[in-house]
Amino acid sequence: TEKKDIVIIGGGPIGIACALEFQKRNWDYVVIEKGALTNSLFNYPKNMTFFSTSEKLEIDDIPFISNNAKPNRDEALEYYRRVTTSNQLQINLYETVNSVQKGAQHFTIESSKSTYISNQVILCTGFYDIPKMLNIPGEQLNKVTHYYKEAHNYTLQDVVIVGASNSAVDAALEIYRKGGRVTMVVRSEHIGERVKYWVRPDIINRIKEGSIKAYFNSEIKSIEDHQINICTPDKDIEIPNDFVIALTGYLPNFDLLSQSGITLSDDKKAIPNYNPETMESNVQGLYLAGVICGGKETHKWFIENSRIHAKKIAEHIESIKE
Ligand code: FAD
Repeated sequence: TEKKDIVIIGGGPIGIACALEFQKRNWDYVVIEKGALTNSLFNYPKNMTFFSTSEKLEIDDIPFISNNAKPNRDEALEYYRRVTTSNQLQINLYETVNSVQKGAQHFTIESSKSTYISNQVILCTGFYDIPKMLNIPGEQLNKVTHYYKEAHNYTLQDVVIVGASNSAVDAALEIYRKGGRVTMVVRSEHIGERVKYWVRPDIINRIKEGSIKAYFNSEIKSIEDHQINICTPDKDIEIPNDFVIALTGYLPNFDLLSQSGITLSDDKKAIPNYNPETMESNVQGLYLAGVICGGKETHKWFIENSRIHAKKIAEHIESIKE
């Protein structure tokens, strides 16, 4: 068993921001990350660019140099790698936390590699790990994915993209321009309102001119090896299909939240309970930081506005240590 003062669960941008704050105060902490460093950013589409300008992604005022108006995925990965390595942050990678239990004296954290006991725990596990499933026959086929990486493997293929948010629209446009035959299946009657204003006209015109086919007010009913069945407002249709990319959003790991004793708002947003001044949850000594704070409202928090959580937590812990 390893004794720590603070255990940070999740090595994304916000987990790293917390580590920086605690390192500055010479506190005995460790970050436990189930995947690679900033694992969610690592799994982003290769060609994605952030909607934030680079200074808005900086943590602890460490300059984020980018040659572009908005940084891309590789620049962000380089930034967080350099912040972590040059500050020699204490971070364990490829180690999954399976449970957080609060006892009378301390927390016990069980991971895939060790057991830790600590006085405080920071949960910053994000929401990118658990895709919202379609729950239809065929969703388990290898040709179906909930994560889009790059377009090359879809060239000259019949590809269906489910969803109409930023990720779905970016994937549809990129695959179309790399020679994929793209069909979008959209549950609502139009492309998402929150789609970046500089991208929205592009997708709308591609659909209008017929370069990208779109079925609105429609849903996939089932997925088979070489076709899919779509329920459209006027009739059910079958179209040939090689790949399905379902970009229908993601959910926080609610099991880990409730297992650790954190309660959720009883509306459908399932927002975890915490004090926005201190970031402390309803479990004393257990803090929330980053996008997990939004529960199912996954468009509410992002790096720009949640990086401040790290300083709030550090200052609160400092105040109770005195
Ligand atoms: P995450 O980055 O998701 O980090 C959580 C970490 O916890 C992950 O690395 C995960 O592997 C780890 N983890 C989860 N469960 C466990 C466990 N049980 N044990 C151990 N580790 C665990 N934000 C912006 O501010 N600006 C942008 O321009 C922007 N563009 C985006 C573009 C895309 C395509 C996407 C998908 C998101 C974008 N975001 C942007 C949002 C941004 O990615 C998130 O705000 C950011 O990742 C949140 O950081 P986080 O540390 O809270 O969560």
